[in-house]
Amino acid sequence: MTQPSVLVVEDEAPQREVLVYNLEAEGFDVRQATSGDAALELAREDNPDLILLDWMLPEVTGIEVCRRLKSTAETRGIPVIMISARSEEVDRVRGLETGADDYVVKPYSVVELMARIRTQLRRVRPASVGEKLEFADVTLDTVQHRVFRDGVELHLGPTEFRLLTTFMERPGRVWSRDQLLDRVWGRDIYVDSRTVDVHVGRLRKALRTATGVDDPIRTVRGAGYALG
Ligand code: CA
Repeated sequence: MTQPSVLVVEDEAPQREVLVYNLEAEGFDVRQATSGDAALELAREDNPDLILLDWMLPEVTGIEVCRRLKSTAETRGIPVIMISARSEEVDRVRGLETGADDYVVKPYSVVELMARIRTQLRRVRPASVGEKLEFADVTLDTVQHRVFRDGVELHLGPTEFRLLTTFMERPGRVWSRDQLLDRVWGRDIYVDSRTVDVHVGRLRKALRTATGVDDPIRTVRGAGYALG
């Protein structure tokens, strides 16, 4: 499973570097943007798991970036934590009204910020924070790396395990082959998209043999795969 990715949007280099340093130390895959426009573009292209967004940015402000992210279908689901030096209540309210999922005031404690990041990730990448995943009769234990269907343990290869984790984190979501490649294999590795079909096929077979019942993964014609 690739590490959760965090997009850091901060125009001031020293503050950005502190964030990047701490996030990388926590094992996150960190991307950076120094302007609102760059942030919007990266959010669309990279589809990060979370965005840390500074309020004070030149030209397009953090608030405007947040508003646009939350009004665009492709980026709406990405949690946004606003970071701001403005501590007044009115600003906090404004930040949250724009759709920010959380709000942190400078100077902030790194420990607290990381805790808030994990809280948001628990929602969008539950497996990355060690949550047990359940869907219908399938249970996936991300800590012990074990999968059960209707109480019967399945023996999955590492790739099938990562695939199933991805599906179970977002039941109902339709994943394109490219999105699965990015999430399961990582964006830096070149893999043919047919490889995705091969591994999804193996996963489905493993899910079926456990109980003899049909597997819960469905092929969405022209789009990719989804769970449930
Ligand atoms: Ca700034």
